[in-house]
Amino acid sequence: MKITIIPGDGIGKEVINQAVKMLKKVESKYGCNFEFNEALLGGAAIDATGNPIPEETIHKCKNSEAVILGAVGGPKWDSHPGDLRPEKGLLSLRKELGVFANLRPAILFPQLKSASTLKEEVLGDGLDIMIVRELIGGAYFGEKKRIDIDGGQRAYDTIDYCTRDIERIAKKAFEVARKRDKKLTLIDKANVLETSRLWREVVTKISEDYKDIELNYMYVDNAAMQLIKNPKQFDVILTENMFGDILSDEASMLTGSLGMLPSASVGEGSIGLYEPIHGSAPDIAGLDKANPIGAIMSTAMMLRYSFNMEDAAKDVEAAVSRIIDKGYRTGDIMEQGMKIVGTEQMGDLIAEKV
Ligand code: NAD
Repeated sequence: MKITIIPGDGIGKEVINQAVKMLKKVESKYGCNFEFNEALLGGAAIDATGNPIPEETIHKCKNSEAVILGAVGGPKWDSHPGDLRPEKGLLSLRKELGVFANLRPAILFPQLKSASTLKEEVLGDGLDIMIVRELIGGAYFGEKKRIDIDGGQRAYDTIDYCTRDIERIAKKAFEVARKRDKKLTLIDKANVLETSRLWREVVTKISEDYKDIELNYMYVDNAAMQLIKNPKQFDVILTENMFGDILSDEASMLTGSLGMLPSASVGEGSIGLYEPIHGSAPDIAGLDKANPIGAIMSTAMMLRYSFNMEDAAKDVEAAVSRIIDKGYRTGDIMEQGMKIVGTEQMGDLIAEKV
């Protein structure tokens, strides 16, 4: 099982070290064999090669079955032009790997209810929402331009989707819903956007093959409000790239910390890209303060989706839950009466529990 490891920038390296530690434990417990291969991306790649996504990185990733990524970016590269920014490396990698579906669970561990900004009565017995976000289309990849005009400049970005882009992700979302509570909400802006109207038509047509799934529709502005007001109404959310980017961050905050949550990006091919949802957190980089749980939970998603190792995935998730139960917390989820630990120690504690 070949895995490309991309630490990236900032806290990326710190959290990825804990993910690898965990995988080594899984290797010894389950008698499997992971072949790790490290690659550069983002700011680290710009510093070493002048390119946010060197050819060698693309080659290594395409020759593996899974890629685990920390995070990219940081103030050092903020003034670089668009094509020489760390984020360009990440967007290009997703495109190169053809991973068009981003699966982002927003799970609230019942032990961490008080870390959520929502009231106890809204959270009930916890939260478990899965956001399926289209990842390689829409405004982030459509034609964009700046033009000099009298008195300044004009700029535009284009949202561009075709039937096939929507069909393939809709099928993924219905399949995900089938394994959960069989409820899918398509979020769009069909009252104003033509692309949204196409999404509705295509998703409605695909739903004929999934009659066991309850499909409903919601405008994105209402969805932003409903996620705060009554998040438990959602099971699986399907949405386009930019709406998904925004709503998945909102949903993740309902769970208390960006540092806790994993993501998986998959396509029609066999390579999966797994990354915690947080960024490179330059404010705490190098201080042993980063929460490694998002990265560790990403390895659980990898074991499940890329290597079909459901038992090992559940084992990792249970180890995380047990350590939280025991009161260990990194700074971002610290509460009174709990035991504060650093990134390394949190990684050690969880790996020991597998
Ligand atoms: P961020 O997620 O890096 O940080 C936001 C806040 O959350 C910070 O206060 C940070 O300390 C905290 N935080 C994030 N992850 C944490 C963790 N694991 N443990 C504890 N605290 C954590 O977002 P930002 O500050 O907007 O962005 C910083 C850089 O990261 C930027 O360059 C941005 O472009 C990049 N970024 C990269 C990705 C990615 O690689 N997928 C995603 C988002 C942002």
